[in-house]
Amino acid sequence: LAKSAKHDVVIIGGGPGGYVAAIKAAQLGFNTACIEKRGSLGGTCLNVGCIPSKALLNNSHLYHEMKHDADKRGIIVGDVKMDMDKFQGAKNKIVKELTGGIEMLFKKNGVTYYKGNGSFEGEHQVKVSPVENGVKEEVLIDAENIIIATGSEVTPFPGITIDEERIVSSTGILSLKEVPKKLAIIGGGIIGLEMASVYSRLGSEVTIIEFQPAIGATMDEEVAKTTQKFLTKQGMKFKTSTKVLGASRNGDKVSVEVEGVKNGKKETLEADVLLVAIGRRPYVQNLNLEKLGLDVDKRGRVVIDKEFNTKHPHIKAIGDVTFGPMLAHKAEEEGVAVVEMLKTGHGHVNYGNIPSVMYSHPEVAWVGKTEQELKAEGIKYKVGKFPFMANSRAKTNMDTEGFVKVLVDAESERILGGHIVGPSAGELIAELGLALEYGASAEDVARTCHAHPTLTEAVKEAALAAHFKPINF
Ligand code: FAD
Repeated sequence: LAKSAKHDVVIIGGGPGGYVAAIKAAQLGFNTACIEKRGSLGGTCLNVGCIPSKALLNNSHLYHEMKHDADKRGIIVGDVKMDMDKFQGAKNKIVKELTGGIEMLFKKNGVTYYKGNGSFEGEHQVKVSPVENGVKEEVLIDAENIIIATGSEVTPFPGITIDEERIVSSTGILSLKEVPKKLAIIGGGIIGLEMASVYSRLGSEVTIIEFQPAIGATMDEEVAKTTQKFLTKQGMKFKTSTKVLGASRNGDKVSVEVEGVKNGKKETLEADVLLVAIGRRPYVQNLNLEKLGLDVDKRGRVVIDKEFNTKHPHIKAIGDVTFGPMLAHKAEEEGVAVVEMLKTGHGHVNYGNIPSVMYSHPEVAWVGKTEQELKAEGIKYKVGKFPFMANSRAKTNMDTEGFVKVLVDAESERILGGHIVGPSAGELIAELGLALEYGASAEDVARTCHAHPTLTEAVKEAALAAHFKPINF
């Protein structure tokens, strides 16, 4: 006979959506359980996504700076070399500490953690099945409320077999044992370009193959163009408007067949490693959604209403498994909102104010509307721009590529969007997110005293440029 348990809130999936929802639910007084089958908490983000990728990005950036830029700063460092074992080890240590940290937070907040696979047994029943190093026997949980937070998985490329050695997904590329001489990447989105940055800094010849005429998918077009220029200058090769027909492994090499979208010209590219990074799709395998007749749409997303409810209102879904941008902070916001909804009947996520960041160097970050969106919506707007070249802190840091661009309503000057390509763009964008949330105008930001010398002054000056004229440019 299976063991049984009873909880007010049961969350299936321990990623940024699920673990945040679990902690919040426990904090609000619910008897809460979280089921995770991976063996460690934190989901895609902490285990094979945001966190390991940022560890590799930061350390590869430092390596590149020391090897190629130290001299111009008057620092003599001698022969700079890579130790791939240690490089990977540093990343693994960070992942372990952070995922372990969530387990501590569960304990601190009184969340029950089931290491196992969760699936629906009935409308109010969830079964936890054993996984390696997890629960030893089945547990049947009686749940008043259930939150599906099972996330997403890599979208496969039809006809290309991922072996995670030579033909890799975003998971395999994070754990390469050596730097490939030639790296080909299918997909010029954020994940593809971040990994392109890591390995190009470590010495790989990187070619990015993108079906669309431009990289960066949802970026502001001007920013996407500028970004491509910077990355090209760093040595990456771009094959845009190019369709991948197939790829195969021959020993230690991979051949990729491509065709020009416009001219139909066929070509075979040779690489040591091929990264397939064409996106992610919702993950609902082994959940037994069918048992309850829960719907997924054409793209596999669990169908919910504006309050996260599936057709059974006590069963809700958040994060990558449902609608909206597949981002960790979006999942986290939903994790809080869905639980507040349970507690009070109200919970809110502002989907118009979810920042995106690409952690290349320079970084690219944006929030709110792009110029192309404002044009399509017929909204009259003004642009304020300020280059980092004219920012004193960027100058002292010898890191002056890029600009801040602020889009404001033509009449009220209310901030509608912010786009930054430049040093620490991912940090700087928070100011424009806050401005957007509070309905601030360009003048509000421009009249706020910013510390000198800081990169944030570029945000202030861009706002000033939108309102009147910048001082330092
Ligand atoms: P997930 O993190 O996918 O978590 C879902 C969890 O549910 C998984 O751990 C899974 O094992 C578990 N699960 C699934 N089914 C079951 C089941 N039946 N029973 C028990 N457990 C189950 N986002 C950012 O915001 N910033 C970044 O810098 C960033 N970088 C990324 C880099 C890479 C390489 C990748 C791949 C992704 C990146 N993302 C980034 C996206 C981010 O990881 C996701 O948006 C985020 O993890 C989604 O959170 P989630 O909780 O919805 O799902």
